[in-house]
Amino acid sequence: MSPSPFELDTLIHLIASHPQLRAKTLTEVESDGKLYPVICAELGSEQANIPCIVFIGGVHGVERIGTQVQLALLSSLLTRLAWDSQLQALLNRVRVCFIPILNPVGLAKGTRCNGNGVDLMRNAPIKAVDGVTFLVGGQTISAKLPWYRGKAGMERETAALVSYMRDAINNSSSVIALDAHSGFGLSDHVWFPFAHQQTPMADLGRVYHLKQLFESSFPHHNHYRFSPQSLIYRTHGDIWDYLVTDTAKGDVPFIPLTLEMGSWAWVKKNPRQLFNFAGLFNPQKPHRYHRTLRKHTVFMHFLMDLAASRSIERLNPQQMTQFDRLARQLWYEQ
Ligand SMILES: [Zn+2]
Repeated sequence: MSPSPFELDTLIHLIASHPQLRAKTLTEVESDGKLYPVICAELGSEQANIPCIVFIGGVHGVERIGTQVQLALLSSLLTRLAWDSQLQALLNRVRVCFIPILNPVGLAKGTRCNGNGVDLMRNAPIKAVDGVTFLVGGQTISAKLPWYRGKAGMERETAALVSYMRDAINNSSSVIALDAHSGFGLSDHVWFPFAHQQTPMADLGRVYHLKQLFESSFPHHNHYRFSPQSLIYRTHGDIWDYLVTDTAKGDVPFIPLTLEMGSWAWVKKNPRQLFNFAGLFNPQKPHRYHRTLRKHTVFMHFLMDLAASRSIERLNPQQMTQFDRLARQLWYEQ
């Protein structure tokens, strides 16, 4: 039996010691006779029709650093809430939700996939319409190969996230999601839908607006490469694509972002990580670990401030047309 991942213990400890954190178990998954919860913890306003931001991590169990980055943010918010009147005011205007360990069995076992061998980010019921990269794009050949899509519909973890996000969209004025991963390339990337096709999503102009606001407001923190995921590689079963194309979504602005932390940069500086599987996805040296924990703080705080400002909700039709046109020029007309 695998021990509980320490990140799960950390989350449970934070919940037990902070009554203002509203926690619920979205589902439980069983592995080797042990039950692991998928937990959501919420802070801030409980009103409907206010902006909501959701931080998701640990979709791929081997990419622990994303979970740790989000737990560090949650822990810092909870500590600051005791004295920081600006943060208290912010949380009256926005709901901040954390699902930092979507795949607890994968985290416990150190695997990308869940306990059934399924890659949760290939598991939603949506098929790529444009060519996908063989295997990486998702496969239904065998659970023994990576990027397995599963054959029995949505896994419990996928279904729990889909259901949670639908509720969030139905009960908020807008939703921004940040799903943290690591292991791709040298740079930090921010990807957005679609992954399954090369055509733009409806909220493309809002993503462009978000990018422009971040880059102009924090020019020295702009180490991210923003792009639709389809420009990098295309996949089947992407949960965010599935939610964006959900016809029940209505017209609530919904911007799901995927943060891909450039872990090969850690490998380049510490080649011994090549002999350590987890090291490919997680920084191993203490100074690099701490740097990674603080590197994304500005961007995550920006997203909370942006949500609370309602800037992405209040774009008028002319702005929407203008930003959509600029976004298409930047990402789709090269
Ligand atoms: Zn990942």
